Amino acid sequence: MNLKEYIRNVPDFPKPGIQFKDITTLWKDNKAFKESIDLLYQRYRDKKIDKVVGAESRGFIIASPLAYLLNAGFVPVRKKGKLPYKKINVVYELEYGTDSLEMHEDAIKQGENILVVDDLLATGGTMGAIIELVKKLGGNIIEAAFIVELEPLNGRKKIDAPVFSLVKYQDA
Ligand code: AMP
Repeated sequence: MNLKEYIRNVPDFPKPGIQFKDITTLWKDNKAFKESIDLLYQRYRDKKIDKVVGAESRGFIIASPLAYLLNAGFVPVRKKGKLPYKKINVVYELEYGTDSLEMHEDAIKQGENILVVDDLLATGGTMGAIIELVKKLGGNIIEAAFIVELEPLNGRKKIDAPVFSLVKYQDA
C-alpha cells in the first residue's frame, strides 16, 4: 500500500509558500490508517517499549493506538497550562518567537524504554523539545517515529535520537 497516495497536499496553508501535508485524508481511510499504525507496530513490537509519548494534538492520534498494540503506556505532551499536576517544561523556538511544551514530572521513570511519535517531521523543533522532556526524566529513547518527513528541512539534525518515517517528501 502506498501511503503517500492518501496524503493531501494543500498549497499555501496556513500561509503563502507552505505546502501543508494534510494527513486527515490518510486517517479517514480505514485501510490506510490501519496500515500506518500496523507498520509502526511491526517495527517496535520486539523493542520492549514501556511508553509511547505523543504531543498534542496530532501526535495523540498516532501514539495512542500504537501504545495499545505495543502493550505500552501512553504519555501526553501538552501545550503550556493544560496538564493538571506537577510538570516539567521546555521552551523551543518557532519561526517567529517561542513556544513551550509540558509533561507531568512523574510520567516517565528513569531507564524506561520510550518511543516518541508525531505526525510530521519538518524542522525538528517540536520533536527536539519532546525529546528534551523525555531525557530530563531519564527515559531511554528507542526512536522518534513519524508518518511524514519533509527531508529538505533536515529535521533529523535537531533530533538527538534515531529517526524513522513512513513517507518521505523531497519537495518541502
Ligand atoms: P517542526 O517542529 O518544524 O518539525 O514542525 C512539526 C510540527 O508542525 C508537526 O507536528 C506538524 O504537525 C506541523 N507541520 C510543520 N510543517 C508542516 C507541513 N508542511 N504540513 C503539515 N504539518 C506541518
